[in-house]
Amino acid sequence: MDQGALSALRPPLRASVEAALEGRRLSADQALALAEARGAEHPALWAAAAVLRDRGRPPVVTYSRKVFIPLTNLCRDVCSYCTFAHTDDDPRAHTMSPDEVLAVAEAGRQLGCKEALFTLGDRPEARFPSHKAALRRFGHETTQSYLTAMCAMVLEKTGLLPHPNAGILGRRELSELREVSASQGMMLESVSERLCGPGGPHEHAPDKRPATRLAMIRRAGELRIPFTSGILIGIGETERERVEALLALRDLHDAHGHIQEVIVQNFRAKPNTPMAAAGEPGLVELMTTCAIARLVMGPAMSIQAPPNLSADYGPLLLSGINDWGGVSPLTPDFVNPEAPWPDIEGLRALCADAGYELRERLTIYPEYLTDDDFLDPGVRPRVRALADEQGLARDVSPEPLVEVAA
Ligand code: SF4
Repeated sequence: MDQGALSALRPPLRASVEAALEGRRLSADQALALAEARGAEHPALWAAAAVLRDRGRPPVVTYSRKVFIPLTNLCRDVCSYCTFAHTDDDPRAHTMSPDEVLAVAEAGRQLGCKEALFTLGDRPEARFPSHKAALRRFGHETTQSYLTAMCAMVLEKTGLLPHPNAGILGRRELSELREVSASQGMMLESVSERLCGPGGPHEHAPDKRPATRLAMIRRAGELRIPFTSGILIGIGETERERVEALLALRDLHDAHGHIQEVIVQNFRAKPNTPMAAAGEPGLVELMTTCAIARLVMGPAMSIQAPPNLSADYGPLLLSGINDWGGVSPLTPDFVNPEAPWPDIEGLRALCADAGYELRERLTIYPEYLTDDDFLDPGVRPRVRALADEQGLARDVSPEPLVEVAA
């Protein structure tokens, strides 16, 4: 990297960037120094992160072609920025029936999707007796048991690879889902305890306690589950707390090797929420956080930023990201329904302009696909049948269950 760009950095930041570019693992102090970036230091961090990405990865940017299945939008938690969750007396509250789940998954299959992303609220049966009754009608006692059955059904009847994102789960629950999914996920969001205090966005969200989330991500690691996580920026955390969250994810990945991607998601203010008037992080802030994520997590980690949450997402490629996450040709982003997906050909052209090939990946990343330790034997042949020799998505449509050679 040219030294002129580095000269914009004050000594502590420059030392951190040089260490990262030399392939060294940043100490906590070196990582936290990056949180102090100001003014012209921002583009210097972006450039360094882009160089680090290009050293560690091929000139490929990935996305996953998926359908979103909002299994239930009931949730026992209340987060101040959320418009996904509703209470059971709200006409928008809905728990999908098996027929509805299958219809969405099959429509996605016909459009070439390979991933079924199940999004849902945290353990709603703990708060809503009506949801318990709905689960019983479907033959289940818990949302997790119903989710597991729906993942199994989608896998068997459409061949789409389930990726459940079901909030806090216990060891047995994660393990059961592992048998019917290719990967799982849960955003860490933040490690700031302050956000759980009075007036904070997580005051009424017991499942958002940092220790609870870190323990869950650790359980997933112990169970050898390829896991997607990340941070949510702009909900009241400081720049330093963002870096602390990245360091916590790095520690968990160091211990268990299971974090396959780190998402940097920017908060968007939604009307009719307690945070409707809160300021949103700008593009500079988002790009710098992506760059810090790259410098902290290293060249091999996949760093993702969603393209639909920034009006001008092209510049994100300059800050060291290599993945756009899920893009659906069918279903909206149910967590940010006001934010439409970019069209895939537009995304391809944008990547090509920047010198990158846009490639479709599976929900499970290539490095986990070939490791028997990380895939349940029952799912393995279905997953591998959809992958090419690089572990990215083959140009085929998933098929309902047929005998596939392992
Ligand atoms: S836990 Fe998730 S679904 Fe539930 S209220 Fe918070 S953001 Fe919404």
